[in-house]
Amino acid sequence: MSLSITFHGAAGMVTGSKHLVELNGRRVLLDCGMFQGEGRDSDKKNRHFGFDPRSVDAVILSHAHIDHSGLLPRLVDEGFAGPIYATPATIDLCSIMLEDSAMIQEMDHERDLRHARKKNKVLDPLYTREDVGPALQAMVPMTYGQEFEVVPGLRCTFTDAGHILGSAAVNLVAQDDGHIRRVLFTGDVGRYVERILPEPQPPLPADVIICESTYGYKVHPSLPEAEEELRRHVYNTCVEKRGKLIIPAFSVGKTQEVLYTLNTLSNEGHLPRVPVYVDSPLAIDATEVVRDHHELFRESVQAELKQDPDLFSFRGVEFVQNSERSKQLDHRQEPCIVISASGMMEAGRIRHHLRHALSNERNTVLAVGFCAPGTLGHAIIEGAEVVHIFGEPVRVKADVERMSFYSAHADRNELVRYLSGQDADTVERVFLVHGIPIAFEGLEAALRGQGFRNISVPKQGQRELI
Ligand SMILES: [Zn+2]
Repeated sequence: MSLSITFHGAAGMVTGSKHLVELNGRRVLLDCGMFQGEGRDSDKKNRHFGFDPRSVDAVILSHAHIDHSGLLPRLVDEGFAGPIYATPATIDLCSIMLEDSAMIQEMDHERDLRHARKKNKVLDPLYTREDVGPALQAMVPMTYGQEFEVVPGLRCTFTDAGHILGSAAVNLVAQDDGHIRRVLFTGDVGRYVERILPEPQPPLPADVIICESTYGYKVHPSLPEAEEELRRHVYNTCVEKRGKLIIPAFSVGKTQEVLYTLNTLSNEGHLPRVPVYVDSPLAIDATEVVRDHHELFRESVQAELKQDPDLFSFRGVEFVQNSERSKQLDHRQEPCIVISASGMMEAGRIRHHLRHALSNERNTVLAVGFCAPGTLGHAIIEGAEVVHIFGEPVRVKADVERMSFYSAHADRNELVRYLSGQDADTVERVFLVHGIPIAFEGLEAALRGQGFRNISVPKQGQRELI
């Protein structure tokens, strides 16, 4: 059997997840994510896949986050004509997220054209809204636990990865002439704590593992600690300092988790009476998709729905759809909470809020997610005194706080727990992807401690026979 894997993204870094599996000449792409946060470098990598999209027979998509799904419209536009396998909830989320990604690119492109001195130097968007439909039409729904044939000799089963709604680990079995190779691609792994989604389901036994490493270097706090931490941030900023609490958050997953905690605090009478604005059209749509898929919630959360039919809404919440209303909020001086996207602060309405709020020390920016190096979010978290937003310098005088509880990613101990059902003696190779150097080092040491061997961090474009 000729089986290989080439790492075309999330190799030594956290974005652009894209791994090409080749079995006896057939090609299957695991994820087709967008590179983010490195300006021109990301753009270049997004324009050149490193393989011919026409030569790919099928795509298996682990989940809807843009760093895993964001280049699918471009792949189809460049000639990929096969099926894209994903869970039903992932397909629902992709339909709003890819549309949003295309719209952001079109808007950025128009803005670049307005400001550019040499119009012919402005690059086209990676894709437009017109390109999204064909990618969605290629999607084929597969539920958790349903085994299906991807190409002759290669079968796949999704297991629930507990990361965001619909997220899956990809369990592959390659079979040829009596030989069997089992490959596990974890996608992004979720948490083992009391949150909206159930904990990750154990993946199937594998000979080769491709494992995400985002938080391989740290351990997250518990839920009661997180609820108290969020309450304290609201109180300190909105009551003590009379300022705005700005929470940049991924529209999918993180926004609903933060709203869920605020809803709990509100039900318990622990939330000060301040307006809460959810200012992201994508987050509004995503919250609808999450509400519609309540069958995927953890059982204890489904039980809560009997007492409180809407876990993402409470007194004082306003979902802001139109951009005029969003601009009004920028100029508001009264204490309030603003939850807006994108989480890495690179795109979307959050940049307008930050431009107005960062230079006032009464305000607080509360980072609740991972920000890749090179992003605006990363600069703010790392303590930059001045940042550039829309090309203008902005002084950072607001407090900057962080919470890691809302990460949708497993921490080091949870990743080890996730792989604890695997037999370390029979696993031949472990490839660590989707991380930063300290995360790879932390996770590698932890996995070695559990008896795993042959652990490596592949480089961009590296091909391995497995
Ligand atoms: Zn993800």
